[in-house]
Amino acid sequence: MRPTLLLAALALAPLSRAAGQDTTRYTHADTLRGSNGPQRAWWDAAFYDLHVAVNPADSSIRGRNGITYRVLQPAQEMQIDLQVPLEVDSIVQERRTLAYRRDGNAFFVTLRARQRAGETRTLTVYYHGKPRVARRPPWDGGFTWAHDSLGARWIATSNEGLGASVWWPNKDYLADEPDSQRIAITVPDSMTDVSNGRLRATTRNGDGTTTFEWFVAEPINNYDVAVNAGQYAHFSDTLSGEAGRLTLDFWPLAPHLEAARRQWRQATPMLQCFEHWFGPYPWYVDGYKLVEAPHLGMEHQSAVAYGNHFLNGYLGRDLSRTGLGLQWDFIVVHESAHEWWGNSITMQDQADMWVHESFANYAEAIYTECQLGKTAGAAYVVGVRRGIQNDRPIVAAFGVNAEGSGDMYPKGGNMLHTIRQIIDDDATWRGILRGLNQTFRHQTVTGRQVQEYISREAGIDLSRVFAQYLTTTRVPTFEYKVEGTQLSYRWANVVPGFDMPLRVNVPGMGTRVLRPTETWQTLAVTSPQAAELVVDENFYVTARNVGAAH
Ligand SMILES: [Zn+2]
Repeated sequence: MRPTLLLAALALAPLSRAAGQDTTRYTHADTLRGSNGPQRAWWDAAFYDLHVAVNPADSSIRGRNGITYRVLQPAQEMQIDLQVPLEVDSIVQERRTLAYRRDGNAFFVTLRARQRAGETRTLTVYYHGKPRVARRPPWDGGFTWAHDSLGARWIATSNEGLGASVWWPNKDYLADEPDSQRIAITVPDSMTDVSNGRLRATTRNGDGTTTFEWFVAEPINNYDVAVNAGQYAHFSDTLSGEAGRLTLDFWPLAPHLEAARRQWRQATPMLQCFEHWFGPYPWYVDGYKLVEAPHLGMEHQSAVAYGNHFLNGYLGRDLSRTGLGLQWDFIVVHESAHEWWGNSITMQDQADMWVHESFANYAEAIYTECQLGKTAGAAYVVGVRRGIQNDRPIVAAFGVNAEGSGDMYPKGGNMLHTIRQIIDDDATWRGILRGLNQTFRHQTVTGRQVQEYISREAGIDLSRVFAQYLTTTRVPTFEYKVEGTQLSYRWANVVPGFDMPLRVNVPGMGTRVLRPTETWQTLAVTSPQAAELVVDENFYVTARNVGAAH
């Protein structure tokens, strides 16, 4: 997702959410958007049949979404989300027009046909309007109406967090993904649209417009569904991967074809590295694509949006300041990692966005490790620590579409790197990363499920480690003192029961693993220099000598 901005993180963070867990700050609209309310819970999205005509002449869209759903419980009222200023024209089921009431960005539709549990039904929403224009895509998104360097129109959508309902009607709730989706986008004849999945048909409509019909055959996050329309060139490749032959399709703007052929070669070693560590690429049926976009980038499923100007690093910079981040293209690596972490394994609630971003951040270190070795990978993840703010918790309030601190990127990556140190067995660690992808493949999950899986497979109760890093802004402090021949140590600044082991090099005794708790423990030491001990920097903690002489 979102490569967050270390530089401008504070300016971009929604200040109204700075209170973290203070649910009194959330509105009725936030609850409608972020919770599984009664008009949502009774139905399960099965298929979205989305048809949208995009008119750059007046920045408007017009279209329909056919929503096919399974009835889980009988009900007569259904919530469909579509954000202002878009307007619904009509809602139809079985050729009958339905009544509805609008409550902000939510529509409550009164169904006429009886909805029996177990049935599959379809309802179609017709709509039009001028969708919200993106203010600072991809972070503050919507439609981007741009022009390329040759003056040709270039249009893209980006709407993570804000929600897919900013441009098309759907159940805008992360825990319910359709099993498959058609995305038929109509644009002026001069343009090519590249959306998700595979292109099934291109139809000249004879009225100056062409329809590009894309089909996603696997479950998709609604916010990943995207329009990318412009003067695109195309080239392709294949990868012989863990699950067979994977198609790779590349869609740069036409003037950038040669730059893309050079820079996007990185996709192949990236995919090989991630398959090794995370398991098979999750979307062999829909393929892998990179699509140039007029914003920095977004993990649009099977059509990753790319706007990093064909440069290594993050817009040419290294977020780790180690030099290692300039060895590869941040957007290719980070956004593609989301195909595993975010698109295949998807958070059920925005509050658990760390499930996407902490692992995607950690994947940057894993790619560094694949390319340059384990020491380099560790140096990268330790390097990105400089971006940690500890301003508010990573996990936000549930049920209101709230997003936690941008620390979900560098601090979350460092939490995972620290857990790898605790487990201290790379085969087990890799097995956990692959096992998560196997167990939760193509599913939506809670953060708790991910935590419990890791603890179970590691054979270590990591619940307090997760609680410390995800729900507090405190960095564990290893307090120690040496008195005579005795080293005393404990954890401070931690959640109750925090008992994380820690690797320490004690002069005269070498490297050893200590098991501090909140209570002082002691260790007999041999060297008078023992107080100059060094905590392994791979653990994201601080250390403080609290000895009297200090
Ligand atoms: Zn991301």
